[in-house]
Amino acid sequence: MKPDLFKAPDYYNIDELLTDEHKMVRDAAREWVKREVSPIIEEAAQNAEFPKSIIGGLAEIGAFGPYIPEEYGGAGLDQISYGLIMQEIERGDSGVRSTASVQSSLVMYPIFKYGTEEQKKKYLPKLASGEIIGCFGLTEPDYGSNPAGMVTNFKDKGDHYLLNGAKMWISNAPFADIAIVWAKNEEGRIHGLIVERGMEGFSTPETHNKWSLRASATGELIFDNVKVPKENLMPNKSGLGAPLGCLDSARFGIAWGAIGAAMDCYDTALRYSKERIQFDKPIGGKQLQQKKLAEMITEITKAQLMAWRLGVLRNEGKATSAQISMAKRNNVEMAINIAREARQILGGMGITGEYSIMRHMMNLESVITYEGTHDIHLLITGMDITGMPAF
Ligand SMILES: Cc1cc2nc3c(=O)[nH]c(=O)nc-3n(C[C@H](O)[C@H](O)[C@H](O)COP(=O)(O)OP(=O)(O)OC[C@H]3O[C@@H](n4cnc5c(N)ncnc54)[C@H](O)[C@@H]3O)c2cc1C
Repeated sequence: MKPDLFKAPDYYNIDELLTDEHKMVRDAAREWVKREVSPIIEEAAQNAEFPKSIIGGLAEIGAFGPYIPEEYGGAGLDQISYGLIMQEIERGDSGVRSTASVQSSLVMYPIFKYGTEEQKKKYLPKLASGEIIGCFGLTEPDYGSNPAGMVTNFKDKGDHYLLNGAKMWISNAPFADIAIVWAKNEEGRIHGLIVERGMEGFSTPETHNKWSLRASATGELIFDNVKVPKENLMPNKSGLGAPLGCLDSARFGIAWGAIGAAMDCYDTALRYSKERIQFDKPIGGKQLQQKKLAEMITEITKAQLMAWRLGVLRNEGKATSAQISMAKRNNVEMAINIAREARQILGGMGITGEYSIMRHMMNLESVITYEGTHDIHLLITGMDITGMPAF
């Protein structure tokens, strides 16, 4: 792969909206991605392997639980810092960002928000340091966009719960040490349980043959009469709102992360357009290529402003789920469109692993589907503005 010459675009001086801390956190993540992710990511993706060697580095840049308080091992940062870290990691690769998102928003967040003090002390510091990795099991073979229909269930057996069912498409599953599992009790109410690797009857087969997020491990979670200790149930929230609260946090991170992927594609295409000579001139001097590049920077700038404003609202505790849906949907579509256009600017070179664009483009096909599909987020906006659910 070519050396990482990334230069971040900032067409509207958005840096002026950031604090010194935001910029420091972002720049540290940016440098780390250049140093540790860019040199190895193409090979990891080609080999369909999550590069476990970067787990320690992810912890060091604060990517595991950026907004979890320091007393539990988190970085104690605000939401904009969290977003900026996700942006920089996804600039490197959406699969690596997925691992960080799952660990932070789908594993640490529910333990922090819905767990007991004992659960927080037991798991959060180890998750923050990367000593253990978690995964989040909501999606099932027959229930994707409609998780309320889930069939995974647990029964009260006096001194333990007995868990049965299966989850699929679970990021980090093949090597996760713990799984946050959403399952129904005997009354049909959804609860979150912390299931640990090694519990009898719990297995995590890997999903192979993915063309997308190849540097992220995906798998199933299978529960065959798993005895889960009662103290592993997170007691402080139940119902579908509990997993949806986690998804709000993860989707917010994706709204920022997608900007990173788009920036990388734009920056690569811009540089290439100035260097590639056809018909005796750089292709960047041609109107058709300028149209593509000009539209890309316009869309990136709009997405940056949307993400920043959403970060302010989240810091103030005012961002709604529907606002988060809008940003996730808009920014991922923006990124996937930019990846497709950028790929064309590179001509044949665009399909090779010499450049990051094709990898981003393929990754974004998962990002536009997971954490709520593109359609579902549109329906959420539709419901929010009309008051009528059209699911
Ligand atoms: C690489 C990857 C990693 C993932 N990681 C995780 C994870 O860590 N944890 C986890 O729990 N899940 C994870 N997922 C699952 C992901 O969230 C689901 O794939 C997603 O929610 C969609 O579910 P589905 O694939 O079953 O599609 P379906 O729900 O079957 O949807 C199929 C199509 O129908 C459309 N559709 C559905 N309902 C409606 C409707 N009412 N109106 C109109 N159109 C509709 C959808 O938009 C979509 O286009 C991951 C998925 C992928 C691909």
